[in-house]
Amino acid sequence: MELNVNDFMRWIELTNETIQQQKNYLTSLDQPIGDGDHGINMARGLQEVMNKLQTNEYQEPSEVLKNVSMTLLSKVGGASGPLYGTAFLKMSMAIKGLNSVSMEDFTKGLQVALDGIKQRGKSNAGEKTLIDVWSPVVEHFSNQDVTSDRLMETAKRAMEETTNTIATKGRAAYFKEKSLGHIDPGSASSFYMFEALAKVLKEKE
Ligand code: ADP
Ligand code: MG
Repeated sequence: MELNVNDFMRWIELTNETIQQQKNYLTSLDQPIGDGDHGINMARGLQEVMNKLQTNEYQEPSEVLKNVSMTLLSKVGGASGPLYGTAFLKMSMAIKGLNSVSMEDFTKGLQVALDGIKQRGKSNAGEKTLIDVWSPVVEHFSNQDVTSDRLMETAKRAMEETTNTIATKGRAAYFKEKSLGHIDPGSASSFYMFEALAKVLKEKE
């Protein structure tokens, strides 16, 4: 399977739709272990992304992702803006020059995006952040033929598992053991991103 400009546009469009629908839920996740703005940050950022995307024409997927990245970096306050902005920028650089992106190239893109998040956040897997969703998803892409259903399941399970960890990075780290029993908000928004990606794959399966 190969992904073209339209597939990447569709990925972002579907992500935006879900994030707008789940804005209040994402904010409610950020209330007990943060400052209650994650839904607001993400909904505002993705709305801006959509506005920008629709005013341009794109020759190749990397240009779409670069545009997404620039908007997230400049418009989303909070930790999540720079982290997602970095992820999309790294992914864009990894697939530069390709009109159509193979699963192998896309996997490389996801891998460097994850590395970028870790570097920017000075964080690693197991710290109750969005990395806990990105890591198993990247592993999934690296190890086997990705199907939309398996991608969905992997991302969903990873998000749910953040309930069982204590935060050591970001605002949630201030809550120490009290962060147990809550889903990490960034893991939930990352789940929605990969759920949207799974829908794009499903349309092509
Ligand atoms: P803020 O924490 O500044 O209010 P958001 O609420 O928008 O920003 O985003 C919070 C999410 O960002 C967390 O749920 C977590 O997933 C992610 N996050 C925060 N700090 C880090 C970090 N250092 N590394 C990776 N992810 C992080
Ligand atoms: Mg917050």
